[in-house]
Amino acid sequence: METITSDIAIIGAGGAGLRAAIAIAQADPGLRIALISKVYPMRSHTCAAEGGAAGVIKSDDSLEQHFNDTVGGGDWLCDQDAVDILVQEAPKELLQLEHWGCPWSRETDGSVAVRPFGGMKKQRTWFAADKTGFHILHTLFQTSLQFPSITRYDEFYATELLVDDGCCQGLTAIEMRSGQIRQFRARAVIVAGGGAGRMFPFTTNGAIKTGDGMALAYRAGVPLKDMEFVQYHPTGLPSTGTLLTEACRGEGGVLLNKQGRRFLQDYGMGPETPLGKPVLKTMELGPRDRLSQAFWHEQKKGNMVATEWGDAMLLDMRHLGEKKINERLPLVRDMSISYMGVDPVRDPVPVRPVVHYMMGGIHTDIRAATPLAGLYAAGECACVSINGANRLGSNSLTELLVFGRRAALSAMEYLASGSARGNAQAIDARAESARGQVRALFQRSGGGESIAGLRKAMMHTLEQHAGIYRSGEGLTEACATLATLRRRYANIELHDKTNVYNTDLLQALELGSMLDCAEAVAVSALERRESRGAHQRLDCPERDDARFLKHSLAHYQGEAAPRISYGEVVITKSQPGVRDYSGGHA
Ligand SMILES: Cc1cc2nc3c(=O)[nH]c(=O)nc-3n(C[C@H](O)[C@H](O)[C@H](O)COP(=O)(O)OP(=O)(O)OC[C@H]3O[C@@H](n4cnc5c(N)ncnc54)[C@H](O)[C@@H]3O)c2cc1C
Repeated sequence: METITSDIAIIGAGGAGLRAAIAIAQADPGLRIALISKVYPMRSHTCAAEGGAAGVIKSDDSLEQHFNDTVGGGDWLCDQDAVDILVQEAPKELLQLEHWGCPWSRETDGSVAVRPFGGMKKQRTWFAADKTGFHILHTLFQTSLQFPSITRYDEFYATELLVDDGCCQGLTAIEMRSGQIRQFRARAVIVAGGGAGRMFPFTTNGAIKTGDGMALAYRAGVPLKDMEFVQYHPTGLPSTGTLLTEACRGEGGVLLNKQGRRFLQDYGMGPETPLGKPVLKTMELGPRDRLSQAFWHEQKKGNMVATEWGDAMLLDMRHLGEKKINERLPLVRDMSISYMGVDPVRDPVPVRPVVHYMMGGIHTDIRAATPLAGLYAAGECACVSINGANRLGSNSLTELLVFGRRAALSAMEYLASGSARGNAQAIDARAESARGQVRALFQRSGGGESIAGLRKAMMHTLEQHAGIYRSGEGLTEACATLATLRRRYANIELHDKTNVYNTDLLQALELGSMLDCAEAVAVSALERRESRGAHQRLDCPERDDARFLKHSLAHYQGEAAPRISYGEVVITKSQPGVRDYSGGHA
């Protein structure tokens, strides 16, 4: 097997992976970096981010307010030491992007423009029209090109982490072009593999978001933290799940039921505010969990608009006017016309909640270190945790910059400490066994399970039982079904047995990742007998701080269901309180 040796290997070339690579290359040009990605970097999901990135910049704002919004928005499940780091480093990282060429939108006086975002009680979301992720990723990508120490391995699919003597020493990956397995030897590995929204049938997530990074770490013995917290974004297009950014509401768009009523005022998010004048604490700019839950209740009351793709509410932006829509929300206009045949300048756009983001992920500390020596994680695949039970929109792009850089610095410290160890022959043997696992998929025959069939059953189960509202009964059923699906996975059969760009093989491996993550979601959700943030239990409707102000940790147990344990939440200065979005004058 061909072995590629570097000092630090990074899995993922989205925002987090690129930021980490740049930080290492800048700090020590002598370190060789292998940047491994299953897609060309610019196709990473970061590219799809629309609305913006949060960071305090205006004089009426403060780090303390960003901290309080984030911790309250997360229903006090965030680790407050991590949130402190996020809010402190956010402005520096966003300015750094500016210096690298990110074209932030501007106020008329030339200063950086910010827009309101859900759950943020001050305006602090930096943006580049409604294509922020594209511009951030492009900026990072072009910056990365100037460093010769970064070697890119595009279209390499990581299959397993190589661990010996308690240290992560590299990984195996399939070179998609040839179908050959390569061994990547490294003294430290950073996982930046992104989210896992594709476990659900209706999602804003790109097709590559299949939880591979989470599954790699999980199978290597690192727990997945807070997996029960899955964010629904309130406004996706019913036809495709394509996101209409929160910036639509940040710019003043409103949500209506079929009677034309701004129904959020009936769900503790009033009072109604004048059209076109966003009042930051309330109504359409409440946090995402609350808005999605309000939709669910209105739907039950029969107040939603029927479309051919199911019930929807209406996002009305007409009062913003064509000029503002074209300037601030050009992509939103394009997508509404292309995918729904509705021009927001003239008509309200039907939208409904859609799976958007995993608050949970690979368990890390504030240095982005996992409990496995030599393994670090950052970005959406990681749970540090700054998002707690509900992420505030625009904190993630910032998170992947801040913690992507931290992961890099921590990995370099680890290298400098000289504590990386592992036996070369043992690692070789593990790489051979990882290759054997993949080859075995080609040999299976007669099992008759189809990849698409299992995937559909998994998606259906999660949507039905692990959606906006959950119950003990439904989750018990989901756990049983997912355990069966994982068993049936052993009998999948590849139809394509060739080597070159074998998408059948890649989809089989991605399904394996998703099934492991899906079971972690369902079991963690069943065990959390309370309602908090995005995890709402109809049978346990109250938040229960006495028992559950804790992080859940799902431990991989092979074929058996994960074992769940709990970890302490770091609370430094904000004691758990009531989330209040009813006032109107922030
Ligand atoms: C439509 C949309 C809009 C959003 N808008 C915003 C917003 O406005 N503001 C905000 O803060 N957040 C937003 N988010 C969330 C945010 O964009 C993401 O959480 C973030 O970009 C994730 O970045 P990442 O670097 O962790 O992962 P990604 O950008 O998803 O990159 C993952 C990388 O991992 C690689 N990878 C995965 N598996 C493997 C494997 N097995 N082998 C090799 N490589 C692998 C991929 O190739 C890719 O390069 C949005 C998300 C979506 C879906």
